[in-house]
Amino acid sequence: MSVLPIFVAGQWRTGKGEEMVSRFPADGSEVARLNAAGEQDVAEAIAAADRAWRDPAWRNRVPHERAAVLHRVSKLIMARQEELAQLQSRDNGKPLAETRGLVASAAATARYFAAACEVLEGELPTPRSAAVMTLSEYEPLGVVAAITPWNSPIASEMQKVAPALAAGNAVVLKPAEATPLMALKLAELFEQAGLPAGLLSVLPGKGSVIGEAIVRHPAVRKISFTGGTRTGRHLAAIAAERLIPASLELGGKSPTIVLDDADLEQAARGICYGIYSSAGQACIAGARLFVQRKLYQPLVARVAQLARGLRVGDPFTPGIHLGPLISAAHRDSVAAYVALAKEEGGRVLVGGEAPADPALSKGSYFLPTLIEGLDNRARVCQEEIFGPVLVAMPFDDEAELIAMANDSVYGLAAGIWSRDFPRALRLARALEAGTVWINTYKTFSISTPFGGFKESGLGREKGMQGIKAYMQQKSIYLGLSGQSNLWSD
Ligand code: ADP
Repeated sequence: MSVLPIFVAGQWRTGKGEEMVSRFPADGSEVARLNAAGEQDVAEAIAAADRAWRDPAWRNRVPHERAAVLHRVSKLIMARQEELAQLQSRDNGKPLAETRGLVASAAATARYFAAACEVLEGELPTPRSAAVMTLSEYEPLGVVAAITPWNSPIASEMQKVAPALAAGNAVVLKPAEATPLMALKLAELFEQAGLPAGLLSVLPGKGSVIGEAIVRHPAVRKISFTGGTRTGRHLAAIAAERLIPASLELGGKSPTIVLDDADLEQAARGICYGIYSSAGQACIAGARLFVQRKLYQPLVARVAQLARGLRVGDPFTPGIHLGPLISAAHRDSVAAYVALAKEEGGRVLVGGEAPADPALSKGSYFLPTLIEGLDNRARVCQEEIFGPVLVAMPFDDEAELIAMANDSVYGLAAGIWSRDFPRALRLARALEAGTVWINTYKTFSISTPFGGFKESGLGREKGMQGIKAYMQQKSIYLGLSGQSNLWSD
């Protein structure tokens, strides 16, 4: 198999770092072979990025022309939707139906930030005054380090690259070790769409080597990271030391709550989708299920029945609900959490192991799993598993529920199922979470800010704040009175 080039400072070339192999998680077969970026690649990419964002030829282009590049990328993505979805399914094992959605969402994100780029306005912050007028303009930050995880590459990468470029920055993107392919494809599409050389480089490689070298480089002016809380904390420390902003979208252990007036069928289906889609490999997965006592037995029985009916298999088989997990090591870590749940006194109602089907033996599959009998303080309820594991717990009153739901270091998302909107809304306000879904779960809108409370992160992506997060305000004072100073004489 030929070695894939990486994209450094506008050039396609073999990386100068160690060899990397991308494997199809359904059978371990090789998808692509490439060389990671080396230190010299990092230095060249960042030097070119620093020149490119300062270049007046790009900086002084009217917003409409910068937006046009993003519009072209969006069209190119949709023209190649199927090919891109297939590539992403091979790279990370997600079912094709899901990766098609992620590709479409990346195209929509590019369109949204093209629009944001055109409508972003500066401000005249002072009231009308005879003495002074002030202007406040939004300027780019400079070189942005974008670091992404393996679970939703094209969507999470576009969520950083599009607003950063729309805001006038240059981006050095480091995709996750396991999934370098979509980021490289994105670079190809941006190049085709006419993005000037140097504004985007894609540097695959190990986080601890290449990621670390990028974020510590003195020319990097912002870190935009999505990934685990541990790495996020480490990057926040580097950002603090360097006094640069960091936006961090981190882990979660989101509660899904069923009140006793909920539509049981709607709730059961939404709960299954919320935890088992993407085989649970989602920071927003609804992993803790709290059900009001009256509905507990019937609701858990229905969730169990639906979970047993979900189809686990090759991501390219139509009608599949869960593909394999990203790697055998990750599957083993999910299995270890199920073993721990049993030690902690949990009862496995559904799944809890790899599927028996011999046709799936080469892949890192794990069955949708439902556990009960645990307390919210159990490790399995406190730690992010990032797999298809749901723990159900009953509750009696709302005060007890709120205390349990908020008893987590995380605060990324939450779900509420209820027919009583005022009650659901009161509860939504009491939950410590950056996103609360009521009678839906895992639905997204690009114009709605997304991010975490507590250890789930810092900052928000999406929406108009999503572009301003890549800008800094400059205030300019215009003296109008003819007086050059405030001394009386
Ligand atoms: P996961 O999301 O798998 O829990 P991480 O949070 O470690 O894992 O990974 C998310 C991204 O962060 C990946 O692209 C990874 O390579 C990168 N990364 C990991 N460690 C570092 C580091 N020290 N510096 C910069 N990037 C890192």
